Amino acid sequence: MKEYPSFVTHLECSYTGKTYPADQLHGLSEAGKPLLVRYDLEALGNAITKQDLVSRLPEFWRYREFLPVRKSSNIVRLGEVMTPILPALKLQKEYGCGEILIKDEGRLPTGSFKARGIAVAVSMAKELGVTCMAMPTNGNAGAALAAYCSAADIETYVFCPEDTPRVNIEEIAFQGAKTFLANGLINDCGRIVGEGKEIMKWFDTSTLKEPYRIEGKKTMGLELAEQLNWEVPDVIIYPTGGGTGLIGMWKAFNELEAIGWIGSKRPRMVAVQAEGCAPIVKAFKEGTRHAEPWPNASTIASGIRVPAAIGDFLILDAIRESGGFAVAVSDEQINDAHQACAKKEGILLCPEGAATLAALKQELVTGRIDSSEQVMLFNCATGLKYPMPSEHQTIDLNQPIDYEKIRGRSEQ
Ligand SMILES: *Cc1c(COP(=O)(O)O)cnc(C)c1O
Repeated sequence: MKEYPSFVTHLECSYTGKTYPADQLHGLSEAGKPLLVRYDLEALGNAITKQDLVSRLPEFWRYREFLPVRKSSNIVRLGEVMTPILPALKLQKEYGCGEILIKDEGRLPTGSFKARGIAVAVSMAKELGVTCMAMPTNGNAGAALAAYCSAADIETYVFCPEDTPRVNIEEIAFQGAKTFLANGLINDCGRIVGEGKEIMKWFDTSTLKEPYRIEGKKTMGLELAEQLNWEVPDVIIYPTGGGTGLIGMWKAFNELEAIGWIGSKRPRMVAVQAEGCAPIVKAFKEGTRHAEPWPNASTIASGIRVPAAIGDFLILDAIRESGGFAVAVSDEQINDAHQACAKKEGILLCPEGAATLAALKQELVTGRIDSSEQVMLFNCATGLKYPMPSEHQTIDLNQPIDYEKIRGRSEQ
């Protein structure tokens, strides 16, 4: 296996700036905040050119120099493709807006972009000798953890809220994780993992409580910049739960600018949440740097049903620095956008992805997004993992087949 140089110098508390040594197992910083991986960007910039990427495989490991894994033999691979960017031309025409681009992350292993973060987290766990991992999840992260840990021979415990989409639960269990449903929300499941650390000797893989998932999610920013020929879109609309992807992309853009691959232009980062769980939106509106836990969180978009995010200040800082904003949409708007995209574009979004389209539609009306701006929406998972409304009809084969009825109904 070809070795690549690694440029990690140290880890850094995202809140206090205190540094921690690389190549050791870490959770949160002493201040109880996420740790960020830091690189020798000058050396990194000297070691690789944009042209070098062209001959590499179309997978996110092509950005090896930007990632923390030191030894190629520790990389756990399940086919991490570069995801396509799909233009939504009909919706663009209907809304009379600038280019709408959908980054379809549902093509990744286990059907969601959680594969990006988990692939890197599990590879690093392997590198650092971890043998047991645990996680609270609304579904997709657990599915990715189960798959990558099975591939890496790491024991896995996954805890889900009891109303997590069925497919996800069975997928997690079937791919080898010990899977438990708890009658609460994701933060309750997080407590099970946190409090069990001593007794169970597992590594807490909760969102942002280990430092490497962000690095995996960062590849979304590297990849979209490369796909747009080292330009960034005017606006990125991101369905925000724990915020790993938004924070990761923001980090990617800063690193790319540091090595001179992009200029100082940044996308305006827009965080979308559901009206039934919108802690970041509330904090954004109130001008605070931290969000309060959202009581009785509820939405059909389970991936963004996160009542409290430990990286709240990192999400809010990125949104504000970028000139973006945070906005909530209702489940009804999510359903409408879900249908519109499926029926008009032939693109089956997940509800969280549909939330980004709903937000775009709404904010074109309010004027917070201008009709000249190029907008990138994130579809974070395949729509096939979620329940869909039942719209079919039935035919009774004991009766003569009534084609008039078939035509009539289908034309309604
Ligand atoms: C996890 C998840 C999100 C939220 O991603 P974060 O980066 O944690 O905010 C959105 N949509 C889907 C489908 C998810 O699985």
